[in-house]
Amino acid sequence: MTIRRYGPGKFHTKLDATIYGFALATGADSLGDVERGWAYTLLPGAWSAEEIRDLEKYEPEYAPLTEEERELILGTMGIIAAENDQGFVYVEYYPTVKEYESVVEKIEADESDDAEAEILADHEAGEHEETAFGDCPACAEITEEGQKE
Ligand SMILES: [Zn+2]
Repeated sequence: MTIRRYGPGKFHTKLDATIYGFALATGADSLGDVERGWAYTLLPGAWSAEEIRDLEKYEPEYAPLTEEERELILGTMGIIAAENDQGFVYVEYYPTVKEYESVVEKIEADESDDAEAEILADHEAGEHEETAFGDCPACAEITEEGQKE
């Protein structure tokens, strides 16, 4: 009984593959974008026995889970799957809510940096983006700086 390897391919283990497919099928939240590096699929919280049964039903080919796989899921308080533009998926299991949330916060912070960089790049290319806060934020900043002088 072990954590079964996926074999050559885009996943590390069969459990990773099952969880990722299940997360997509059940409409899990996501962050990021493979075009900017990584797309993250978020599965917060503990797993109930019923959810684990649903997981096994989702991928009958890999069911039942081994003892170690079951223990890994039961010991997790949050899972994050990260996919890159090559289609490789890395799945991390966090044993505490705190660890899970600190990673999600870091991803969210990187996301807003990316969004700012994108607005600036569009602004420099002459394609001024409108946002929820009004006109192109990069133009607004320049105007503010002009007024300070
Ligand atoms: Zn602009």
